[in-house]
Formats: sequence, structure tokens, C-alpha cells
Amino acid sequence: MTTTIGFIGLGIMGSPMSGHLVAAGHRVTGFDLNADSVAKLVAAGGTAAASVADAVAGADVVITMLPNHPQVEEVALGEGGVLELAAPGTLLVDMSTIRPETSVAVAEAAAAKGIRVLDAPVSGGEAGAKQATLSIMVGGEEADFAAARPVLDAVGKTVVHVGPHGAGQVVKAANQLMVGGIYALVAEAIVLLEASGVDAKAGLDVLAGGLAANRILDLKREGMIAREFAPGFRIDLHHKDMGIALAAARQVDVALPVTGLIAQLIAAGRAQGYGSLDHSALLKVVENLSGRA
Ligand code: NAD
Repeated sequence: MTTTIGFIGLGIMGSPMSGHLVAAGHRVTGFDLNADSVAKLVAAGGTAAASVADAVAGADVVITMLPNHPQVEEVALGEGGVLELAAPGTLLVDMSTIRPETSVAVAEAAAAKGIRVLDAPVSGGEAGAKQATLSIMVGGEEADFAAARPVLDAVGKTVVHVGPHGAGQVVKAANQLMVGGIYALVAEAIVLLEASGVDAKAGLDVLAGGLAANRILDLKREGMIAREFAPGFRIDLHHKDMGIALAAARQVDVALPVTGLIAQLIAAGRAQGYGSLDHSALLKVVENLSGRA
């Protein structure tokens, strides 16, 4: 079934995701502040929107894939935003990673206008977006999840309804603390191997076949050893996500000490000027700690 989709936020993730939706046969109209990103969607067979209003007009489903909660608040709740302009019954699927309380607030404001909302953050990185194999963790009403399923299946492989509004964001926070921790440990392994005069490539190749195997080792070890840090997923965005994880922990009175440490390492990366590099640049932070930059 063809769905008319307004897609707002065509960056590293939104660009390939919107392309897959076009390829799946949907009518996709996209908006981004960056005109080059809109041009990419047009080249992929989508339609350009000159504003949020343009993207929302006639859409059955509106997808947002924006950096953080201020952008989601502006686009969803602001003047000329989705809630003001979308027809009742429209489904707003926010796939950005933001704090859970904003997802809940947007859903409550939308309900008053008859607009349905899901929080549907993703994991799998740029590679997962390009290959349409994202994991998608969805918060909201079961019926709205069922309605969104065909669209989500066009960009994801593991698509799970995890609970009420905001629950998708809590699951994503858990994902991000694990991803940050694994990056930090891969970085420490590389520093130890190289400082000991052991070939890091050979070392990590064998680790990737044992109990320490993980997706980050699979996808990123070669790039890390070669010091290729083009994003991918920017340290600045991971810093945002560690803040979300720590705030969520505080909200429910639990202690996450390792998460606290990872958050500080990522904050150090940002402070050292690596905010626009990929989060694998955590390797540079770990090298700096040992004076091996
Ligand atoms: P990005 O910065 O590449 O893309 C965000 C896009 O939103 C940009 O093109 C920007 O111009 C646009 N934008 C910002 N404000 C806007 C507005 N008011 N109106 C219209 N467009 C606007 O970021 P990204 O890496 O694609 O990440 C997007 C979201 O997905 C973030 O919340 C991030 O945490 C999450 N995420 C990213 C990855 C990854 O690997 N990059 C993986 C999983 C989740």
C-alpha cells in the first residue's frame, strides 16, 4: 500500500531512510534546513518541500529524524509546526533520539488535536540506515504501531513495540550506554595492543571470533586502527545521548556507575575538540590519557 509520507530531517540517517521509503513505493516529500540534503531525496525519486508545512500537507504519516529535543519541539510543537498543520488522524513518527519526557509531551499535545504519535528511535548506525536493517524501538499505542509497521519495515529489520509513549526512548538510552561502553573498551584494547608492540589488526581479528565478539568490532575495528573518524555518529550526538541516559537513571533512582564513566570519556572527547568526529574517536581520548596521541 502506498503511503504519503512527509519526512523532516534528511541528514546522515534521514537521507538513506527516506530513499528506502521511496524505493518501497511510498510518496515521500522531504524537508531539511540544508538544501543539498533535500536535493538528494529528489535525486532518489522523492519530492522537495520548502517548509515543514509543505512536507506535512496531504501526508498520512510524518516522520521526523532530527538531532535533539529542541529541534523536535520546534518542528512538532512550534508555530507552523506539525501539530498545527497536520490533519486529524495523521501519524507522527519521531525517529530522533531525544529525552523520553519530550516524547510524552509531544504525544499529549498531539492527542488534543487527534494526531497520533509514536517515538521510534533507531539503532544500527549509518550502515544500518543505508542497508535498511535498523533496529527500531517503538513507544506508543499498539494500534498506531500496527499502522506504522509497513513504513517502519521499509527501513528496519528488528522492529519492536516496547511500551507506552517514551518507552522507545528509554530503550534507546540503554542502547547508547552499551554502545559507548563497547567503543571505550575496543579503544582500550587497541591502545594496549599497540603499546605492547602486538599487531592490533591480528589481535582484534581473533577477539572478533571469541567471547568478546560484537557488532562494533565487526564494523569498526579496521576504521579505528586506520584512525578514520569521519562520522557516522558524531561524538556531539553521543554526548547528548549519555545525558539522556543519566537523566533517565536519576528519574527512577538507579545508579549506573559505568555509564557515568563512559559519559565523562565522551564529554572529554567533545572538550578535546572531537565533537564532530565519529564516536569511534573515543580511541583518541583513550590515547590522550596515556600520552600516546
Ligand atoms: P544529522 O545532523 O546528520 O541530521 C539531522 C538533520 O536535521 C540535518 O540534516 C539538519 O539540517 C536537519 N535539521 C535540523 N533542524 C531542523 C529543522 N528545524 N527543520 C528541518 N531540518 C532540520 O544527524 P543524524 O546523524 O542523521 O541523527 C539524527 C538523529 O538520529 C539524532 O537524534 C541521532 O542521535 C539519531 N541517530 C543517529 C545515528 C547515526 O549513526 N548517525 C544512529 C542512530 C540514531
